[in-house]
Amino acid sequence: CYPSILFLPRFRFLKRRRFAVVAMSNDPITEWILSEGKATQITRISPIGGGCINRANRYETDAGPFFVKTNRSIGPSMFEGEALGLGAMYETETIRVPRPFKVGALPTGGSYIIMEYIEFGAARSNQGGSLLKCIKPGNQQKALALTWTIQLAGQRLVKNMAALFENIVIEPCLLHGDLWSGNISSDKSGEPVILDPACYYGHSEAEFGMSWCAGFGGAFYNAYFEVTPKQAGFEKRRDLYMLYHYLNHYNLFGSGYRSSAMSIIDDYLRLLNV
Ligand code: ADP
Repeated sequence: CYPSILFLPRFRFLKRRRFAVVAMSNDPITEWILSEGKATQITRISPIGGGCINRANRYETDAGPFFVKTNRSIGPSMFEGEALGLGAMYETETIRVPRPFKVGALPTGGSYIIMEYIEFGAARSNQGGSLLKCIKPGNQQKALALTWTIQLAGQRLVKNMAALFENIVIEPCLLHGDLWSGNISSDKSGEPVILDPACYYGHSEAEFGMSWCAGFGGAFYNAYFEVTPKQAGFEKRRDLYMLYHYLNHYNLFGSGYRSSAMSIIDDYLRLLNV
């Protein structure tokens, strides 16, 4: 549910394709679907629930279904970030992610993204229990609200945390960035699918920062560490990467996350003896 733009470095957006048609029609979504989307008619548009930030619709067409999200107030930069992340993960050909097709501005303000529609399998319905409280985008953009105490303690941790990374080599890799259960599913054939990324290149361990709401079991971790073996000191750094998300949640969703963040910081200050 994060607005991905908050976490993305400012990448150049995916190659923009040119339209033969006008720059800003009344309905650029329909226009794209009926031109580059290769459909000749849209037979039905049905809303899809479950998102926190945007409106989502399924566009049924004679060229197959399309998944479309719109946002009435935020400009295309947020969806450009999402498309860039989806595109980067799609190109790895390692796990199924929806292929992004088009991002643009709406003539009434706001923006849209058109992407591949994925028919989810039965597992999706079990993912519905969102652990995060959905809030309006306006609130999500509000200024950092950390209290002075947590800020000072956090700064002390940042100054001293290099000790947690001694003797390891970090090779930046592509991270989903918001890997919690609401963004993990499977398609009809049971293949895993990941959605709604906040991608960046970083330390592979950072991907477990959201594990407190991902519901990964032992089998998952065993399989993961077979492919990417644990680095020395992994257990010591694990909470540090969770702390990033707790602070983010504190900032986005309110004070309920403050004590968890503070107790992780306190534990680290004790461990590091600073
Ligand atoms: P938001 O940006 O508002 O958080 P999401 O990306 O979570 O919205 O999408 C809203 C809902 O649409 C999700 O619950 C998900 O089940 C569904 N969804 C997301 N991507 C696709 C897709 N490519 N195909 C079909 N359904 C999708």
